[in-house]
Amino acid sequence: MKKSIFIVANWKMNLNFSSASNLIDRIKATIKNSIADIKVIICPQFLLIPQIKDSLSNDGILSLGAQDCHHKLSGAFTGDTSIELLKDLKCQYVIVGHSERRIYHKESSETIKNKIQLINQLSMVPILCIGESLVERREKNYLDILSEQLLKSIPNEVDKLLIAYEPIWSIGSGLVPSLEQIKEVTDHIRLFVNNNKKIGTIYVLYGGSVNLNNFFDIFKVHGVSGGLIGGASMKSGDFTKILKKLI
Ligand code: PEP
Repeated sequence: MKKSIFIVANWKMNLNFSSASNLIDRIKATIKNSIADIKVIICPQFLLIPQIKDSLSNDGILSLGAQDCHHKLSGAFTGDTSIELLKDLKCQYVIVGHSERRIYHKESSETIKNKIQLINQLSMVPILCIGESLVERREKNYLDILSEQLLKSIPNEVDKLLIAYEPIWSIGSGLVPSLEQIKEVTDHIRLFVNNNKKIGTIYVLYGGSVNLNNFFDIFKVHGVSGGLIGGASMKSGDFTKILKKLI
């Protein structure tokens, strides 16, 4: 596969110190000596980050990401996590706007925009998730919904941005849009963002029930630069097989 590929592993609130360490060891052994243009970004729970940081190689393939951050640098925000600490812990990427945060934590696009601004200021890379619900898909107004999310969540200028198209109905469900549907949306995302924002470098990824059987065809879609993978990124056998095929 001759293009830059980003594999973002979203471990969500899963794994413990021992299972995370085993998984990282298997991932490291798999990508060892690879010269492929691939970036594997591991996004563990916050408390696992220090341990994973210590085991990162500096081959440039494997990097660390956070699953979220607060939109202010510091302050009276009990329970939240400061991006400066994430940067100190060598996180280079931060996922923002995941539908699980938009839904369970009522995060608005305005808040997400502030987070992206801060991440960019600190020379880290935001991974923005957008996606439509099943009702929105069925009512056929998903492109308008996605455009609104892009318009409201992305600051006017960002140096580097990864956007993951993650249909909400596809996350963890086993349901995956057709390759034509993925292409329609990812093309739309790129065009819309290029017409409305000033972004230095942009990559568009797909996320939602990516697995061993479907990843290769999805990542081959023109304009899709890899994927955000939840469930399959924690199954070491499946994930390392995916990586083997890409490196
Ligand atoms: C996700 O967590 O963003 C995700 C895409 O999960 P899954 O791959 O399990 O659908």
